[in-house]
Order: sequence, then structure tokens, then C-alpha cells
Amino acid sequence: MSNSKSLLKSGAAVAALFMSIAAGAMPAAAQRAPVVDPPTPAAIAGHLARAIEIAGKNPLLQKMASEGYWCMTPSKASALVGKYTSKPLTDAVPPAQLFDNVYLFGTSFVSMMVLKTSDGLIVWDALNNDEEVRTIFEPGMKQFGLNMADIKIVIITHGHFDHFGGAKYLQDKYNIPIALSAADWDLMAAAPARPGGPMPPVRNPARDKTLADGQEIKVGDATVRIVLTPGHSPGTVSSILSVKDGGTTRTMAAWGGTAFPATTAMLTQMRDSTSKLKEAARAAGAVGILNTHAFFYDLVERKAKQGSSPNNPLVIGAEALAGTMDIKRECLTGQLAWYAAMRK
Ligand SMILES: [Zn+2]
Repeated sequence: MSNSKSLLKSGAAVAALFMSIAAGAMPAAAQRAPVVDPPTPAAIAGHLARAIEIAGKNPLLQKMASEGYWCMTPSKASALVGKYTSKPLTDAVPPAQLFDNVYLFGTSFVSMMVLKTSDGLIVWDALNNDEEVRTIFEPGMKQFGLNMADIKIVIITHGHFDHFGGAKYLQDKYNIPIALSAADWDLMAAAPARPGGPMPPVRNPARDKTLADGQEIKVGDATVRIVLTPGHSPGTVSSILSVKDGGTTRTMAAWGGTAFPATTAMLTQMRDSTSKLKEAARAAGAVGILNTHAFFYDLVERKAKQGSSPNNPLVIGAEALAGTMDIKRECLTGQLAWYAAMRK
């Protein structure tokens, strides 16, 4: 097999995994297809070196630049995706409190995040399906003394089923407004039906509120600023929000997408979105990153390590936040080099 053919096969196998996740199915063939690293395009080395340079002496950033998903070769990225999709996506993890007023509920794969305001709750995402919302989210809320009736809005970060799966249940049972970007409402509507299989079936919520770039969502004393960061999906929604941390108010950025996409055009968009969110975060004075795939930033593990320290490990500072986005950008540019090589 020629180099270009093996490269194409590797890229296609990673892309197939992502697309099957997005579509709600894991075809056995995509799961088993071995990904063999093609020869490294020359352009990669420079971007990875720059990522490591940006990381400097910050251990969190060093790990991101040396072992982080965006900076991985196709085979390593494929193995990581395989790791998180080989075990049941429905394994519940204990609910976690990330800040005084921020809670996380979900599985080892995906989470719902709740921000408690002075007058109700703002929620991000809706897990994989109704059943997870019913068996994981509802009891978890109770555990923290939070009421379903207090949820004012659910912001869906993007139109992939693992983020909106339980939205229809929330819409039907509690009449909670569901909000998503226009592009991703369209994406959701265009996706093939997910009748079930290894996972319970997924129902689309009825089209409801549309989120626009720069929009502010105000609930009680909280304002969430919407930043559209296309790439992972056409209308990925990131957010800038304020949280209470030991009584101190801190601003955080919630990155709405996670895995890199399967096309050059979308990778390019995602790379540009890293710069956009970096700038929005800087302007708002943000000091850390949240995400509803909590494993991606080790949110729960890092928070658990805090112990009795007053310093929340999720507060990394404005400089490290900017560094994170710059590392993402370098490594996504590196991924573009893999994609470019695939097309030769
Ligand atoms: Zn997704």
C-alpha cells in the first residue's frame, strides 16, 4: 500500500469514528479499523514545537501540548476516541460540584452542567438520551438540593445527539426552553433517525430558541454571553459565564465542541474559532475553561485534587487560558497538515 493510500485510510478511519459517534451508532467496522500512522508531514513538527513552546513551564499546558488530543497523531487520536466509546457511554459518574454554584452531572463520556443563579438555573446540554436524564440528571439534581422546576433554559452546545439526546424529555416533561444555534438546529433536523441499538433511541426536541453570536442570556444575577465557535459542528455554541468560587466571582469560558472534525473546511473553522474564543475570553477576563465532555480537561479529577486548598484548580488564569487556545490553534493547524497530505 502506498503512503498516500495508508494516510487516506488512517484519516478516513478517524473520521469514520467521529461521524459514527455524531450519528449515534458505532459500526463494528469503524470501531475495529486499525489506524496506522502515515509518514509525518514536515509541517507538523513546527506546529508541535510551537505548541510546546507556548506551554512553557505550565504542567497543565505541557501535558496538553505533548499528550493532548489536538496534538495527537491519527493513530493516537483514534485510540483515544476508541477508549471513550468502547465502554458503555451510559456509565454514570458521581455528580460533582466544580464551583460554589456550578454542578456537573453525567456519564464518563458526557455531562450536563448547571449554573445556579439568584433566580433559577441555567443548564448546558442534555446527555445522550431521555433515560440518562431520568436516571442520572434528575436524581443528581436532588442530591444537591436543586429543583428541576427552577431550570430557566437549556443551552445545547451543538447538534450532536450526545449533547441534545435528553432535550425532548426536558421540553415535554418540564416545558423547559431549549436553545441552540440556527445552524445546529438545522444540523439536528438533517441527521438520520437514531432508532436505538446499543444505545436507547434519541428523539429530537421541537425547534425552540435560537442562539446568536454575542447574545446575552440573563437569569437572576447571571449573564451568559454566547460565542459561536463553528468547526466541531456548523454552529457550535461556546459561552462566557461568571461563577462563584469560594465567594469570589470568576469568569470562565465554556468551549462548546471537543473532538476535531473530519473535513479540512471544518478544521479550518475550528482553528479560527479558537482565536475567536481566546479573544472573547480575554475581553471578559476569563480565567479557566469548562466543557461538557468533562474528561477532556480532567475537570472532575482536577477539582477532586483540590482537597482543602482554597485554590480551585479549574482557575488557571488568563494567561494559561490564552495559552490553551493558542496550543489548540497550533495543533489544529498541524491536523490540517495531516489532512492536506491525505489529499495528495
Ligand atoms: Zn459533538
